[in-house]
Amino acid sequence: MTTAPHTAQDLERLAEQAGRDLEEASALDVLRWAADTFGSRFCVTSSMEDAVVAHLAARAMPGVDVVFLDTGYHFPETIGTRDAVAAVMDVNVITLTPRQTVAEQDAQYGPKLHDRDPDRCCALRKVAPLEEGLRGYDAWATGLRRDESPTRAGTPVVGWDARRAKVKISPIARWTQEDVEAYVAEQGVLTNPLLTDGYASVGCAPCTRRVLEGEDARSGRWAGLGKTECGIHL
Ligand code: SF4
Repeated sequence: MTTAPHTAQDLERLAEQAGRDLEEASALDVLRWAADTFGSRFCVTSSMEDAVVAHLAARAMPGVDVVFLDTGYHFPETIGTRDAVAAVMDVNVITLTPRQTVAEQDAQYGPKLHDRDPDRCCALRKVAPLEEGLRGYDAWATGLRRDESPTRAGTPVVGWDARRAKVKISPIARWTQEDVEAYVAEQGVLTNPLLTDGYASVGCAPCTRRVLEGEDARSGRWAGLGKTECGIHL
């Protein structure tokens, strides 16, 4: 479905209203609202940790755009999950890449920028390409959940992304890890094989480690660097 772009003012109003109306709605109903309201100007972003939100969105809007950021630092398992999602699901996978390859970045900033200045590395390889890739959309969905970490505890189901002037939708914000696992099992949803190999949250290989017993899901990301988010969701 092709939909005309909304003005930023309209979008902000829509986000505020839907944030109130859809707080208790099911994830599928939230995505049906997004599909009806934004049509082709709506996309899902996926880190390819699992395909839960992409699966839900495809039920609400077959052929929905699923945006994946290929930082050049992903585990092969993550790229494999992306390829499997593109092959078997009724979605349109769009891969975004940073302006520089890893080799070009190394030449300009020195090797392993992720160890020395992860905020800059994420800004170059995640935040900037997503910023550009989302330009043609009025609304985007994420897989953020409140139970993932203290920094995500206040995630709205529908909110206003003031930085990008877009509606930001987190349809499974209220889900728990158990809810995700139940949906994956019931619907046979694709997941990243690393989730059964000790990883609870999957990001770039140099910045992701397995989690220990009792740690929250995102504690394996940028471990020891005092960093909890890449900057996309701040
Ligand atoms: Fe760079 Fe690590 Fe951020 Fe990936 S997660 S963009 S490797 S700092």
